[in-house]
Amino acid sequence: MARAKKYQTVKELIFWSYANLAMAHTAVERKQEKYNTFNYVIRAKLFKGLKDETMNMRTIFDDEKIKLQTGQICNYCGSCKKLTLDHIFAQKSGGKDDAENLIFACTSCNSSKGKKDLMEWMSYRGEFLPLMIIRRYLKLVFKFCSDNGLLQTQIEEITEMKLPFKVEYIPTKYPKPNELKLNAEAK
Ligand SMILES: [Zn+2]
Repeated sequence: MARAKKYQTVKELIFWSYANLAMAHTAVERKQEKYNTFNYVIRAKLFKGLKDETMNMRTIFDDEKIKLQTGQICNYCGSCKKLTLDHIFAQKSGGKDDAENLIFACTSCNSSKGKKDLMEWMSYRGEFLPLMIIRRYLKLVFKFCSDNGLLQTQIEEITEMKLPFKVEYIPTKYPKPNELKLNAEAK
């Protein structure tokens, strides 16, 4: 028997990615080399809680605090040189010119990312970005879908739409915790 898919709508996909991210976050904080049963329980509880609305993705405010604490370094690679402001959702594809959508990035990361969606760029780089950046991105996707009445849209349908993000690149699997970091480290 084929296993039922965990996510059908874009909302479920965001929640699944977010629950995996939260699991990875805990494991990285505990300096684990791999995931254990405790981590999988957290993921399952959070995913269920998000779906039945007993839990929620915390607001982007937490991420704004992190942004201030991180200071002026490239949020992608940690470089302190030649910083610019990068729009997480590219302006060309409808990203807004506001604080939630802006982070510091070095010119090298900025030009490598170009017009690509952030997760598309991550997949192209072949290396995961710091988890806090992915978290901010997922919150932006959630907010956009919520504001535009898209949360219940089927994934196949949303893939066809022209949006500031590309749903097909939202990570549904995260690497082992020892291959991840929470924030970029200044270098
Ligand atoms: Zn950089």
